[in-house]
Parts: sequence; C-alpha cells; structure tokens
Amino acid sequence: MNLEQVIKANTICFKLKVSILKYFKFEAFYTVVYRIINSPYILDTDHREVDMEKRNHQSREDLQKSVFSHSATAPVDDEQFGISKHIRITPDYEAFNQPNDMFSRGFWDSKFANRMTMKFFRSFVKPTERTRDEEGFSQEDFALRNGPWVVTEMFAEMQKANDRRDGFTDDFTPHIPPRVEPVEIKSPQEAAGRIKKVGKLYGADLVGITAYDPRWTYKSKFSARTRSSKPVDIPDEICNVIVLGKAMEFDIIRMSPSATASTGPAAGYAEDAITLLALAQYIRSLGYQAIATQNDTNLAVPYAIQAGLGEYGRNGLCITRNYGPRVRFGRILTDMPLAHDKPIAFGVEETCEICRRCANNCPPQAIDHGPPSTYTFNRSNIRGIKKWTTDGEKCFKFWVSRGTDCANCIRTCPYNKDYSKRWSKILRFLLGTPLRKLALKMDDRLRLHDQIKPSSWWASTDGSFQTLERAKDHPFDAELKANQDRVKAVRDARR
Ligand code: SF4
Ligand code: SF4
Repeated sequence: MNLEQVIKANTICFKLKVSILKYFKFEAFYTVVYRIINSPYILDTDHREVDMEKRNHQSREDLQKSVFSHSATAPVDDEQFGISKHIRITPDYEAFNQPNDMFSRGFWDSKFANRMTMKFFRSFVKPTERTRDEEGFSQEDFALRNGPWVVTEMFAEMQKANDRRDGFTDDFTPHIPPRVEPVEIKSPQEAAGRIKKVGKLYGADLVGITAYDPRWTYKSKFSARTRSSKPVDIPDEICNVIVLGKAMEFDIIRMSPSATASTGPAAGYAEDAITLLALAQYIRSLGYQAIATQNDTNLAVPYAIQAGLGEYGRNGLCITRNYGPRVRFGRILTDMPLAHDKPIAFGVEETCEICRRCANNCPPQAIDHGPPSTYTFNRSNIRGIKKWTTDGEKCFKFWVSRGTDCANCIRTCPYNKDYSKRWSKILRFLLGTPLRKLALKMDDRLRLHDQIKPSSWWASTDGSFQTLERAKDHPFDAELKANQDRVKAVRDARR
C-alpha cells in the first residue's frame, strides 16, 4: 500500500466511525456500553420487575400481608430497598411520626421553638425579617425567594379553620369532587402511560408509578393548632402511588446557601402544588380516588426510588438521572389500576461510597461521612433502615441561623448538572463505570459546584457568573470524619 492509499483508507475509517456515532446518538450508544459494563444491575432490575408487577394486582389488604409491604411496625427480616446493595430495611423499622420532623419541632420542641426559629418562619412572608448586608441576603434576594411561597402559603392557609395546613401537614383538600362512575380501565399499562402524559402536560418533569406501601405512611400527622399529633386516614381501596418530580433551576441552586438560591425550592413547591392539584382532579374526574400529598402524609424519597425515578444518595435524597438531586417530589395516592415502574440503578450508590462532596460541603457537618448504618442522630431520623442518615437538628439549626434554607448538598453533588450539555452526559456515564474515580477528579476540575455570587447572577445577561466560594472537592477527609465520630460518641454517651 502506498502512502496515498493509507491516507484514503484512514479517511474512510474515520468517516465510518463518525457515521456510527451519529446513527446511535451519543446517549443511546453510552446506554448500550453502560449495560454491558453493569450487567449485574440489569439482572437485579429484572427480578424486581416481577416483584413489582405481582404487587400491582394485589389489594391493599394483600399488600399488608405480603413480605414486601407489611404493617408499618411489623418486624421483617433485613430487606433490600430499591435495588440497592447496601440499603436495608431491618426488623426494627418504625414508621415516621410527623411531629418529629424538624419543621414541626420548631413549633413544639423547647429545644427549637424559640424567637430565632419564629423569625426564620416569619421571614418567608416578611422579606425584611432577616435582611442583612451580605451577598445573597438583601431585601431583593428575600423578595425573590418569597414570591413563589405565596402560592404554597395560600393553600396552607385555606383550611386553617379546620386545623389543616394543606401541603405541609395535610393532603390537599379536594375542590368539589365530581360524582362520576369510574371509567373502565382495560389496560393498566395504557392508563399509566396516560397519567404520565397528563402529569407532564400539567408541569411535572418526572412521573413514576409504584404500589402503595403502608410503611411510608406517617404514624401520625402534626396538628399546628394543638401542637400535637393527629391521625392519618388512608382509605382501604388505595393501592397505587403516582410520584411527580419537579426539577429546580440549575443556576439558582448554584448560589446556595443564600436567600437567592432558596428561590429554587420555593418555585419547586409552588409548581408542584399546582401539578398535584390538577392531576388529582383529572383522576377524580375519571371516577377514581386521588389524594394529593406534598410534605404531608408520607415519605417522598422511598416512593420516588420505588417508582424508578432515581437512587438513594449519601445526602439522603433521591438522585435522578436527568436532574441529579435537584428535584422535589409530590405523591398522589389512588385506587386507579396502573402499571408500575421498576427501581433503577445507574451507579449512584457506588459513587457515594467514594465521593463525599455533599458531606464535605455541608456547613454544619450534618451529613454522614461513613458507610450506611442504622445509626440515628436524633428523633428526627427514621429508625430501622440501614442507610446514610443526615442530622436534621444540625441542618435545621444552620437554616435558622442563616435565615433561609440551604441546598449545598444538592449544589455540590456531581450528579447535579445541566444535562442538555454533552459533557454532563459523558460525566454521568463515566460515574456509572469503574472509571468513576477519574470522573470525580475531572468533575472537581470543572468547578461547576462552586458557589456563584448572587450579585453576579442578578447582573449576568449571558449566563456567566463570578465565584463567591470555592467548594471542597470530593476526597475523603479523615479529620472531618473523626470529628463527626466524636460528636456521635458524645451524643451516645448522653443517651
Ligand atoms: S441542606 Fe445544607 S445544612 Fe442541610 S444537610 Fe444539606 S448541606 Fe447540610
Ligand atoms: S455529593 Fe457525592 S456522596 Fe453526596 S450524594 Fe452526591 S454523589 Fe453521593
């Protein structure tokens, strides 16, 4: 072969490679390679599918008797959660009691119900309550955050006279439920497809469906009026749960912790409430029951994972494939026959084992640096699940001290990316392979998780921002872990 023929052959090979890549599209190509590399996940997923399908045809009574879904306090053998390798539900599992969540404790627990906490709560309606001369905490920043809260607050106030705070402690009160006969559902698969289509039309970014699981229902709700508990009442016919995910804006979250960044969750709550109400009314109009829940009634994260929307992460959140942990989840409980989705795995658990960026960047060090365990920091933790657990008291105290919520554990997560960018997709793919350590190092170099300066966000017209604080990278920090272990030991001794 002479030189000219070699060049010609090389050119043909190159063009052929480009055409193949174009044909498959990058994402599809990665998925195929990912599946080959991670075949054990696929096996697990398939087993799970059989399990979930079986559950779909069971009544709630059957569900309670079955091994997968049992009464909230019944002992079970260690049980796999989702398709996780390490997260386990143990025989000591206890359903969560809403009066123990940090927001409820802010009203009744003398440790937290104080002037500072009240100022913090008030600041969500009064933008000058915690205003100060600090980047991201001006009246304008608080005003931006408080704008969307008005929607959620309006719903919360509407049934106040009946000791209800819709969306916070109680499900959304139905608006004139239509009295109609249920439409015939011939295929749960088709019905599930329609629910997903309508959910997305009404504003959801993600929709997943799973079986009702009484373990995730609160043992009791919190009564804001009496500062005590009140019963949770779920009709016996409820057998399915539709989980709706609403993604928060990427650039907004990058300003955490600041009042400006808190606009992300505020807008997420407001949009989620509207989507939940609309979809619930659609289901009622088809003649089925629909209970729309937000912060109330049940736990969001286990349902989101069971409905195949993401995997459990060290930061205690459900990490989704297309938005990372930057998602709020609402749930609709229904008796409508629907096909279920299966839990997914794309390498999050393996990444969390070696990445501690959320823990390293949590200002009050509330996130666990160690492996999953059944350790609980305080009464605000769920008991009896082997998992990564966050110290809610430390987290809440930090929020109160700053005068706004924080999202550092979302901002700094390597899965928190704008996935319209090809580079983000490549990184996510690498995080799902044995090359994840290298991917984390590359991600550290990108500096996308540094805190951006709120004033530069206000001023920017082209999407470029200045950095306010450099985030810590992902490697294990023995000193931080040792400090955390010392605090745990002191608390255990006090107990
Ligand atoms: S919200 Fe902030 S304070 Fe709370 S756990 Fe996450 S990083 Fe830590
Ligand atoms: S920051 Fe790292 S350790 Fe934390 S949830 Fe995200 S991937 Fe897991």
